[in-house]
Amino acid sequence: MSSFQNLGFSSCFDSGNGKLVTISDVGGLPIMRVNITNDPYTEVDGRAHKMWFHFKVSNLRGLQGKPLTVVLPNAGDCSYPGGWGGEALKGTPEGAAPYRACFSVDRQNWLRLNDTSYEDGELRMTLDAKAEPALEGADFVYLAYFAPYSQEQHMDLMATVVASSAKATVRTIGRTLDGADMELVTVRGSAKDEDAKKVWFIARQHPGESQASWWIDGFLRRLLDPSDPIANALLAKAVVHVVPMMNPDGARRGYLRTNAAGANLNREWQTPKLDYSPEVFHVLREMHEEGLDFCLDVHGDEALPYNFIAGGEGCPCWSDRLAALQKEWCDAYERTNPDFQQVEGYPVDKPNEANLAIGSNGMCQAFDALVMTMEMPFKDNANAPDMKVGWSADRCRRLGEAALDPTLAIVDKLR
Ligand SMILES: [Zn+2]
Repeated sequence: MSSFQNLGFSSCFDSGNGKLVTISDVGGLPIMRVNITNDPYTEVDGRAHKMWFHFKVSNLRGLQGKPLTVVLPNAGDCSYPGGWGGEALKGTPEGAAPYRACFSVDRQNWLRLNDTSYEDGELRMTLDAKAEPALEGADFVYLAYFAPYSQEQHMDLMATVVASSAKATVRTIGRTLDGADMELVTVRGSAKDEDAKKVWFIARQHPGESQASWWIDGFLRRLLDPSDPIANALLAKAVVHVVPMMNPDGARRGYLRTNAAGANLNREWQTPKLDYSPEVFHVLREMHEEGLDFCLDVHGDEALPYNFIAGGEGCPCWSDRLAALQKEWCDAYERTNPDFQQVEGYPVDKPNEANLAIGSNGMCQAFDALVMTMEMPFKDNANAPDMKVGWSADRCRRLGEAALDPTLAIVDKLR
């Protein structure tokens, strides 16, 4: 038996996903094959999603300096194969930056693995200390689709940053199917409730899009900073409601797109059901109670290496007023943080063709308000690539912080 059999493998932790298939010795070099595990079947999408992975490989010292190749043999069967890159994307917007896996030896700093490739439906990641100095002398390494943001981190943020702020309250507005709290953060400054605009930010409907949590982390910290003049000016005109974690069950279970029952929450905004999509049910009820003049729903996109928004152009209520507001918000966001751009993105919905079960469309139509879906890349920002970290947790945070400025720029025009 080769010593490679002593390599350890686990995904048994918060947001873990990955099932060890085999460890083999190919010409004296170890190959570990790991399958990504399915989300529960999603009726409206006609498939079981998968793409998020997050696992730990241990006992690396047994390799005695040899490189280890980890292969995901079912990568080609994932929800967005275009997210992995490869030859087929050459010359397309999706192919403007390659996908490189995230790895960490300290669970704080997540670097990009240069030797990541996608071929014949398999994602191959080669861990070689000679090419990646961070791996030198490591006992174990974590691999993930994107820098994870755990439920523990979320709870720490709520307890240390949010609940301790005089401006913020955290309220449990319901429970998930697994029994987790659905939390609503409300931030009030000098604005009187009756005059204040009602501004919402929600994140992590899709649990595999951990970018959204890093974005909200940056956003909330800046919003609650008592010395930040933009935050204070915004809070003089608006009450800000934030749902930092729309899908705690899916996030903890290591899913890409669904809650515990297989609901794709971002297809549940027309008729959310308490026994299938309670997360949306509770949040939508609060939106109707509190009012909504603006909402940003924060996501990550597997294929496009850009930051962009998708708007409500296809909603029956779409108007010159909403179009002008959206343009002003986007222009101001781009000026504040050039990682945001308006050239690349999804095709714009044709008039009256929006799917109103999607959160941003459903809210736009229900409240006749500016509501946008924000997308961040898994790969990198192809306009400003970073070979070391790619699109990263820190850059998500900065982009979240920067969202205060454009929101202040348009707040007087909301209603
Ligand atoms: Zn999403």
